[in-house]
This record gives sequence, C-alpha cells and structure tokens, in this order.
Amino acid sequence: MQNKVTRGTGHGDPRGSDAEDFDLTLRIGVERLHIRTRIPQADMSIPEFLPVIQSLTDAVVAAAARGVARSRRRISCGPGCGACCRQLVPVAEAEAVHLAGVLAGLGADRRARVLERLRAARERLTGSGLATELHSAERGQSPMDRRELGLRYFRLGIPCPFLEDESCSIHPHRPLACREYLVTSDPRHCAHPEKGRVETVELPRRPSALLYRFGDGAGAAPARWMALPLALERAWGSGERGEGEAFPAPELFQRFVFRLAGADEDMG
Ligand code: SF4
Repeated sequence: MQNKVTRGTGHGDPRGSDAEDFDLTLRIGVERLHIRTRIPQADMSIPEFLPVIQSLTDAVVAAAARGVARSRRRISCGPGCGACCRQLVPVAEAEAVHLAGVLAGLGADRRARVLERLRAARERLTGSGLATELHSAERGQSPMDRRELGLRYFRLGIPCPFLEDESCSIHPHRPLACREYLVTSDPRHCAHPEKGRVETVELPRRPSALLYRFGDGAGAAPARWMALPLALERAWGSGERGEGEAFPAPELFQRFVFRLAGADEDMG
C-alpha cells in the first residue's frame, strides 16, 4: 500500500483563518494509519505547531499499542508508576519552549513547586558532573553513548520536575519521548534498567527523533536535544514562549508526515 496525502482547502477554522484539510493514509511499519485533520493556513513557529506533532505521535503510538495487543502482550505502564520519570528525557528545543509556556500558565503555587524541583534537579546534575556531560552530548562531543548517559542519569534518582504523586502533572503536554515510552515487562524491572530486563515497545518510526532535526522546519537540521530539566531551565530563563522563525503550517505538516513515513515513499 502506498502512503497517500490528499489536501483540500477548508473554511471556518476555529482560529478565525482559513484552513487546509488533510486526509492521510500512512504506512508506518506494519501499521496503516488513517488520519484526517485540519491545519490552519497560517505561519507558525515549531513550538506553535507542536500540538499537531503531539497528536500525530499519539496516533503512531496507539497503532504500536494495537500491534502489542494483537501479539497477546500487555502494556504494563499504569497510573501511579513514575519509575520512567526518573530517566533521561531528551527534548527538542521546541518542546522546551512549549514546556516553559505550560509552566508560565500554572497557578503560582504549582509553578513555585515545579521551579523548586527544577532547581533541585539542576543542583544534583551539576554536583554530579553530569550537567557538563549532558551539555557535551548536546554538542555531539560526549564520549558516552546515550545508553550510558541514561544509566548514569537514572542512578542519580532525579524525579522530573513535573512528576507529582508518581504521576505526570502535565500529561497532555508531555514531551514526545514520554509519549513514545511504553513497557511490556513487569513494572518492577523499571526500577533497575541497568539489568536489561525492561522490554519496551519498539516504534517503527519515532516522531521524537524527527523533531530533534525539525528546527529548520524540514527535518534536515542536525539532531539537537537536551535533557528535560536543563532544557526547561534554559527556556524558562530566556523568556521565549513560542516566537521564532515561522513557516506555513500546511507545509510543516506535509513535510513532517513525509519524513516520518520515509523520504523515499511516494506520498501520492
Ligand atoms: S513530563 Fe511527565 S511523563 Fe515525562 S518524565 Fe516528566 S512527569 Fe514523566
């Protein structure tokens, strides 16, 4: 089956501008995704466009979850299990800006609690020397591979600043890496990733990996990611909340799905 994109112009977008309708059939791995969506005919920065990418990611992950169910395995992630929220969560710059906006929108008390946890995470990362390693990794200059960095990070036991009562307090806004992380093994293994017994669901395509390259609006930029607390601290301090270079949103959408499905695919 070929991937297929049909575009058409619609009207009456809730943002008050015209919009473009997309009707997609994507083959991602063995799964076939059918997505109908409406994209505003407006210029958007990547952080402004992020909710569209989040929805697309949720569709890819849901398809992978259906594949798990067909193979008679079970996804063992559940409410109140925040073991994975002590892992190294890589985020794209656009996600950091988005999270800073979410933080700005919290009530004063909640925001103060998140900022206090953020301060504690930064202190721990700096005190352990891992902040320096993470900055080197960000520039592609760390001798450690991602798995080694991840294990060192996890050993520090730093909860994500958004983790409350072992649940994500910003669930609808969580980064793509969090959306893509699903486990089928016994949840008890998640507390000991170094033993190699955690079985994760392999996605045929990871939207997060594409987002790390999507700063140019085309997916051809060098991959760029940062650890969530350091990225959030930077974005919060910069005061940036979604400004930046803007691109026509329908073009962003088509380029993102094109790259996600594989650049060699005929998109019809
Ligand atoms: S953003 Fe939410 S899901 Fe992701 S690590 Fe933080 S608390 Fe967990």
